[in-house]
Amino acid sequence: MRVAFVGPPGVGKGTQAQRLAERRGVVKISTGDVLREAVRQGTPLGVRAKSFMDAGSLVPNELVIGMLEERLKADDTRQGYLLDGFPRTIAQAEALGTMLEARGEALDRVIAFEADPEVIVDRLSGRRGCPRCGKVYHLRFDPSNAGTRCEACGAELVQRDDDREATVRRRLAVYQEETAPLLTYYRKRGLLARIDGSAPIDDVAARLDEVLSVPRPV
Ligand code: ADP
Ligand code: ADP
Ligand code: ZN
Repeated sequence: MRVAFVGPPGVGKGTQAQRLAERRGVVKISTGDVLREAVRQGTPLGVRAKSFMDAGSLVPNELVIGMLEERLKADDTRQGYLLDGFPRTIAQAEALGTMLEARGEALDRVIAFEADPEVIVDRLSGRRGCPRCGKVYHLRFDPSNAGTRCEACGAELVQRDDDREATVRRRLAVYQEETAPLLTYYRKRGLLARIDGSAPIDDVAARLDEVLSVPRPV
């Protein structure tokens, strides 16, 4: 399975990616997570990426493309991968196409998650995450069994800085401008499947399994 998830911030890509990766035993590559980890560790990539992420802008293509290229070299990608949050621009999509071609691979499907702006704002304002293990929760829709702590590792949950209101607005605008054109790009290539991301988590997961079980039209 080689799949990419596209969609506005907060639509549920990471949540579904996590669950699908567990169900299928395939590796999930979330570029946002990889970037946040680089920032936390203060690597050269992290140092360069931080100001863009804080502003709610995209990290420059060459940085993210190089990062993904490195990540795909690991052995765990041989059985397939689930790309969460990459590609996010046409330039990234084209670079990905070239990278995969060189590996003799291609994407099976690109999943576009959709939801109205009110749903998205609600999701992002209640999102909390574990700074230690990365698990994502929602105050109302997917709360931790351990209250304000992570049920997996016990760390105190935090809100992402870029989930505050002003930055969210900027990220939504960036999505419309830079990422939404990918829907047409992949539709033209016969790869796109759209999923209503506003349904409850289990319903979206079931729909995703359904979509992935159908061979794509050639
Ligand atoms: P969300 O899941 O809320 O959409 P992510 O965790 O995927 O957010 O991404 C957080 C931030 O990391 C983005 O706002 C952007 O700055 C950066 N980022 C993640 N993926 C990419 C990418 N493919 N290209 C450029 N920037 C990215
Ligand atoms: P993305 O990776 O697209 O930015 P996330 O998976 O992080 O989105 O989800 C954003 C927030 O919404 C998280 O707090 C998550 O727990 C919650 N969430 C995800 N999917 C759903 C859903 N189907 N219904 C309600 N809340 C959801
Ligand atoms: Zn944790």
